[in-house]
Amino acid sequence: MNVRRLGLFGGTFDPPHLGHVAALEAASASGHFEKIIVTVAGDPYLKSPDVHSADRRLAMAHAAFDDIPLVEVSDMEILRPGPSYTIDTVRELLVNNSALDLIVGADLASHLNEWHEAEALRELVEVAMVPRPGSSANLPARWRGYEITMRPVDLSSTFIRSMGNDSNLKKFLPTGVIPLFVKAEG
Ligand code: ATP
Repeated sequence: MNVRRLGLFGGTFDPPHLGHVAALEAASASGHFEKIIVTVAGDPYLKSPDVHSADRRLAMAHAAFDDIPLVEVSDMEILRPGPSYTIDTVRELLVNNSALDLIVGADLASHLNEWHEAEALRELVEVAMVPRPGSSANLPARWRGYEITMRPVDLSSTFIRSMGNDSNLKKFLPTGVIPLFVKAEG
């Protein structure tokens, strides 16, 4: 088996949900990684401007992911001023790590060439794709990557935000996230 690598799973996490948890649990159990860094985007430049505050999303990410083996939630993208570009995070992490795999949902995989400094990113990382209903895991030409097996979870933060304070939230959010999310919604 190859040397275990560093995994990077970035997101807006507004809020973090059970689809994210399933993806991280599958990545953690895959045997590919010695550690997985979860970065919460400070200024998610590809998303709408009305996301919840970075501090609130960071607190929700800790509540959602801290118990998953190998996973470490990081505030590095929040501390860095300006838009949260993955390439900057990758460069920062590669200072102390020799190999890094970007963990992404299949919905993002085919759009990687649209990311900031896509060509540089392509040269620095391999891509670990987790399945997402409605998206096939296709990498653009010349990107290196592989799939992580998991049972797909049909869930998005957009859907959860549309629910507001619904009592069904517990079906979709890790327990510790619910009070933080409800407070943020209120
Ligand atoms: P939104 O609905 O606001 O766009 P989202 O649910 O896609 O949010 P993000 O925080 O944007 O969540 O996603 C972070 C990462 O998690 C991305 O790589 C995304 O593809 C992945 N992801 C999100 N939901 C799922 C899911 N249900 N299954 C697998 N991966 C997921």
